[in-house]
Amino acid sequence: MICPKCKNDMEAIEYEGIEVDRCKNCQGIWFDAGESHWLGDKEAATAIDTGDPLTGRQTNAIRRYRCPRCDGGMLRRVDPKRPHIQYEECTSCRGSFFDAGEFKGPVQSSTAKNRK
Ligand SMILES: [Zn+2]
Ligand SMILES: [Zn+2]
Repeated sequence: MICPKCKNDMEAIEYEGIEVDRCKNCQGIWFDAGESHWLGDKEAATAIDTGDPLTGRQTNAIRRYRCPRCDGGMLRRVDPKRPHIQYEECTSCRGSFFDAGEFKGPVQSSTAKNRK
């Protein structure tokens, strides 16, 4: 599969029996429909989302792109339970794309909370 944002190759990685695609260049992550319930799994997030959040911030700026699976339109979504997680979902096949660091969430906010 070709990364919808930076047009490089994505490689399939497997974690606990589920296959996700990760871009070799920008480390964006693609979930097929139904796989993104993983959103709540911190261990999975750490294992899969290995990209640099700084890179993610750059690719996050790319807003106009098509679904890498079916060429459908992508819609920006926010996880209602974790508003810091923003991603894009295909309006057609319901797959979703996360920029590097989006899946894990911002690191700074948790350290700020610990400071009392
Ligand atoms: Zn990419
Ligand atoms: Zn699609």
